[in-house]
Amino acid sequence: MSAPPVIEFREVGLTYPGPPPVVALRPGDLTVARGEYVTVVGPSGSGKSTFLNIAGLLDAPSTGSYLLDGLDTATLSDGERTALRGRRIGFVFQSFHLLPHRSAAENVALAMLYAKDERYGGHRAAAERRKAAREALEQVGLGHRLDALPTRLSGGERQRVAIARALMGGPSLLLCDEPTGNLDTATAASVLELLDRLHKDGMTIVLITHDPEIASRARRVITIRDGVLSESSAVGT
Ligand code: ADP
Repeated sequence: MSAPPVIEFREVGLTYPGPPPVVALRPGDLTVARGEYVTVVGPSGSGKSTFLNIAGLLDAPSTGSYLLDGLDTATLSDGERTALRGRRIGFVFQSFHLLPHRSAAENVALAMLYAKDERYGGHRAAAERRKAAREALEQVGLGHRLDALPTRLSGGERQRVAIARALMGGPSLLLCDEPTGNLDTATAASVLELLDRLHKDGMTIVLITHDPEIASRARRVITIRDGVLSESSAVGT
């Protein structure tokens, strides 16, 4: 049996009630299969954050149904939705969101405190969390910076720590919101190369950006305009 899609939108839409009501995402279908790398590109106000919030289980759609890994999220309570988000989705934001007075390893390990992992019988012990954090940091090339505070790390290194944190617990989906928005061009390129590598290793990635050049790195580019999601190209090999 093949795995269900990671993301399946069936006529998913969101209208903010207002007044006046604002149609932020028009009802539409979207499927992201396991292992895909998809970028979502659109100008400011086009509905990218709305899409991110729904795909990331931060907001529920006002119409349609969203299946994450084949699970219908509409039937979940708030608590179940939060638990599912913690286990299945790793977030990477533009502004890193690291705790300034915690080391890289502590920042990454803390992710496990919030995401209960049934494979380890609930919360992991501190030593296990630390080991998992070290492995995640090694995976992003920061095995030598475990004890560094974020203030002592470059922007690119901070974003790598955030990516390591997002990988903790083995999420189904890495949801990246303008992950290179705070980085210079060279550093941005190295972070995008890291995402390429994670994708090659099998991670499902959805990257949201306003920058068409960054979007075009993915084989599958989805354009969002006035709340309408549409496939825009199939480039690359
Ligand atoms: P983007 O992230 O692409 O800039 P958004 O998803 O934030 O776009 O916004 C899409 C549309 O929804 C815009 O017209 C925006 O003004 C509107 N919008 C966003 N959030 C709200 C809200 N909480 N209430 C009403 N309208 C909103």
